[in-house]
Amino acid sequence: MTFESLGLAPALLRALAEQGYATPTPIQAAAIPLVREGHDLMAGAQTGTGKTAAFALPLLQRLGIDEATSDRHDHRPRALILTPTRELAAQIHDNLRAYGKYLRVHAAAVFGGVGMGGQVQALRRGTDIIVATPGRLIDHMDRRNVDLSRIDTLVLDEADRMLDMGFAPALRKIMGALPRTSRQTLLFSATFAPEIKALAAQFMRDPREVQMALPNAVAVGVHHRVHPVDADKKRDLLLHLLAADSRRQTLVFARTKHGADKLAKYLGLHGFRVAAIHGNKSQNQRTRALADFKSGKVTVLVATDIAARGLDIAQLPAVVNYDLPMVAQDYVHRIGRTGRAGAEGLALSLVSREEEGLLRDIRRLLKQDLAIETIAGFEPGWNLQLDRPAAPARKPGRKHGNVGRNHAAPAKPAHVRRPNGQRGQDERAPGNKGNHRWRGNARPHKA
Ligand code: AMP
Repeated sequence: MTFESLGLAPALLRALAEQGYATPTPIQAAAIPLVREGHDLMAGAQTGTGKTAAFALPLLQRLGIDEATSDRHDHRPRALILTPTRELAAQIHDNLRAYGKYLRVHAAAVFGGVGMGGQVQALRRGTDIIVATPGRLIDHMDRRNVDLSRIDTLVLDEADRMLDMGFAPALRKIMGALPRTSRQTLLFSATFAPEIKALAAQFMRDPREVQMALPNAVAVGVHHRVHPVDADKKRDLLLHLLAADSRRQTLVFARTKHGADKLAKYLGLHGFRVAAIHGNKSQNQRTRALADFKSGKVTVLVATDIAARGLDIAQLPAVVNYDLPMVAQDYVHRIGRTGRAGAEGLALSLVSREEEGLLRDIRRLLKQDLAIETIAGFEPGWNLQLDRPAAPARKPGRKHGNVGRNHAAPAKPAHVRRPNGQRGQDERAPGNKGNHRWRGNARPHKA
């Protein structure tokens, strides 16, 4: 399969060659022909699969060709791409510019955290494509800075995350303001939870479906390693792990903004070139941190989940979960940044006693063995028990049992499938009472 065989225009092929893209990724091969045929599309694809080009290339092709023949005096935008975070909006905008380098198609990015002025000017000058986060687009709509009356292509990127972030009302408002007739809608999502399907049923016409990775799958080349450690030793264990290869680009996840700042400061004090990225940083700070990380000027980037969502960092060798995510699905999103495109990746998780329940959720979701490795000098004063519900954290610690054991038992498949597709609830399902492993307080840490 080649990009030529997908019928892409020479101007796009040239730009792709310059980007070093030799062959289409599976999502590109599956989606581009359907989009070119004009179908609505629901695509199950995560960050790292090449999903941006899957919608951007056929869109640029159509607009580039139409542009050559259509009314040049009509500057109203033709396509709207909605995406959950500022970083993703900026990245998609960059990608559109790179892929559309030899076409006369203009794109404008509209996201919060920066002044309205530049965006208003870009919208007034006229643009073919708007890439926007929902909140800021609504600000512009309310101020009548933007005319959506000619939009004929809508892309919902990372639709699941937009809903998770509470954008459902904003999405409905925006979609309600778009022309209804002959609109093509493309929806990309890592998962197809019932809310996504409801959104699709309301706003899409007979969508074709492509599913690239199994839901919750992570790249096969990723090595998952779990390091049990006492909470108060985590920082020093992290230093120890980072020092093992101080030139390795590593993305470190912290749970809170404050925690991310404290950790970055600590690593900085110990000589690491480090930056932090989270919701309290200004857009300029975030952009600079990401650029410095990509260029290698900083080797460690400490991030929160929301800030890191969808960051386009190609082939990152290592991701460290300094704190485990509160929601198991976020583990998949975090790890999605390593082991891309067939490369090997390392996913390290520092797990304190309080996080045992979260680790169980993750293992159940991945349906995959996780190597457990206790690091000499950082042995915890408790025993990681993945195959039994955790004792409440306040009880006195148990004696060592399986510390030093190398592998957890394989994850058990869910015994009860819930009709609504929710995960992580199996231990409470009535049909599962006979299974002692998952009874009781198996998820004591869920907020
Ligand atoms: P995405 O899933 O759109 O965020 O893309 C993930 C990464 O893969 C980005 O760094 C893209 O530049 C890169 N990429 C996308 N398509 C291709 C391709 N066909 N060949 C090589 N790299 C690609």
